[in-house]
Amino acid sequence: MHIGIVGAGMATVALLDALAGSAAKPGEITVFESSSAVWRGRAYQRDQDSVRVNAPPMAMTARGGDLDHYLRWLRERPELACYLDEGLGLPVVPRAVYGRYLEHTAHTAIADLRENGWRVSVVNSGVTGFSRHPVATLRTAAGGAYTVDRAVLSIGGGQPHDSYGLADTPGYVHEPYPLHRRLAGVPADRHVAVIGSGLTAVDIVTGLVSRGHTGPITLMSRSGVLPAVQQRPIPYEPRYLTPEYALRRVRDNQGQVTLTMLIELMKAELSELGHDFRTLTDEVIGNDTEPPVQRLRRQLSLVADPHQGRRLLGRAIRTVAPAVWPMFREQDKALLRGTHFRTINCLSSPMVPHNANILLRLLDSGQVRLRAGLQKIHPHSRTGFTVTDDTEWTADVVINAVNPPAYTVPQAAEGLVRSLLTSASAERHPFGGLTTEPGTGKLLISGRPRDMWYAQGNIASTSTFIATDPTGLAHEAARLARALIA
Ligand SMILES: Cc1cc2nc3c(=O)[nH]c(=O)nc-3n(C[C@H](O)[C@H](O)[C@H](O)COP(=O)(O)OP(=O)(O)OC[C@H]3O[C@@H](n4cnc5c(N)ncnc54)[C@H](O)[C@@H]3O)c2cc1C
Repeated sequence: MHIGIVGAGMATVALLDALAGSAAKPGEITVFESSSAVWRGRAYQRDQDSVRVNAPPMAMTARGGDLDHYLRWLRERPELACYLDEGLGLPVVPRAVYGRYLEHTAHTAIADLRENGWRVSVVNSGVTGFSRHPVATLRTAAGGAYTVDRAVLSIGGGQPHDSYGLADTPGYVHEPYPLHRRLAGVPADRHVAVIGSGLTAVDIVTGLVSRGHTGPITLMSRSGVLPAVQQRPIPYEPRYLTPEYALRRVRDNQGQVTLTMLIELMKAELSELGHDFRTLTDEVIGNDTEPPVQRLRRQLSLVADPHQGRRLLGRAIRTVAPAVWPMFREQDKALLRGTHFRTINCLSSPMVPHNANILLRLLDSGQVRLRAGLQKIHPHSRTGFTVTDDTEWTADVVINAVNPPAYTVPQAAEGLVRSLLTSASAERHPFGGLTTEPGTGKLLISGRPRDMWYAQGNIASTSTFIATDPTGLAHEAARLARALIA
């Protein structure tokens, strides 16, 4: 069997690792990657040291079912201990270092697969099309044609959208990564305006100041809300707030999942711990109502707070929600993705205390300011920009920090996805992404699995609308590996 895997980011590393650990009859694997960031993807490419991972090691394993896989890799490298996040009490390394872990895991998996008799090759060219006749064939940008028996879309989330129509405007930076290259041309004393106030905006702030930026930096967004601050993990094995328990409850409820049901699980879990539910609801409501700098300061003071509410909520969004997501009614999905997106996103993708401390210091000093209500950004005829929110002000440089929304098809995969749709190998899910079978990742047509295509990560309709994360992807890859070789 020849398996073609399109995309060589974190999800594919996890898939190769899972295939290497299986007892499947050996065949052939070809991995295709359109960019130079093989095994790293957009998130973990080579960059300056200030660009840190934004999760503790237990949340970043590339091996499904082995939460300590990455932690072990870190411990074998004592020189990385210098990246300790004081607040978390755990290492938070540069993202490029995590990319080294991914490279190491991919190379080890490939060596193991080859030892077990598999033929594995990596083609550094994008897959631009697919045809079925006379045999299933993947076509690459470099003119290659590869016949395959099974194929996996593992194409990630792609590049940001140009929401303000500023592409090609001098002084505008559309793709901020890698920062070491994109920030190189930003004069240190200029006023930089950043579109967005999420994790990428925080990366840009810490990236600029680590390069000696002295000019003002303004984070501008519609809401002006910052990500929550991550708390020091306190080991706890939930009893109710687990995928297995939630799925049992859903089965008892004729296969229907409701928000109320999940809230009841959270209440039961907190009550088991003797922790009140009110503290958590205050945090959730405060996301939209508490002044952001006050919230940042308060959350930094609560990094070691024993109340488990926020930790459990973040964990449930990453583990329970994906398990029950396909059983949500479409209107509930729309409500969560629409009305509650910002809150869910801020709480499930918090910033690490290391970055939160830098940001608070810069906000207190006045070098960084936050502005809500962004409406328009207008380039001047020569240089600089006028920004409109509740007033008009100017900036010299504008940097985009808004990532593409869930289910976006990366530019590099547009041709391929078009050919999958026209050859009836895939269909769009009305909520977003390509319709995918829960559990196996098989692409579905009119509710039935078609023969050979699978998907994982952002493009799969079974993914939630929250940015994918390594541990979730590793679990998904392990299930996909089982389905692929079945
Ligand atoms: C900027 C950023 C930072 C993040 N940081 C963290 C973090 O610190 N901690 C954390 O827990 N999570 C983080 N995440 C979330 C998560 O780890 C990533 O979303 C994850 O890396 C996604 O992996 P992936 O393999 O699905 O996609 P990607 O890493 O995007 O990989 C997909 C690959 O497919 C390739 N590709 C696309 N189309 C084609 C084609 N047609 N042919 C061939 N190749 C193709 C792309 O070039 C890309 O390399 C981050 C996400 C982003 C975007």
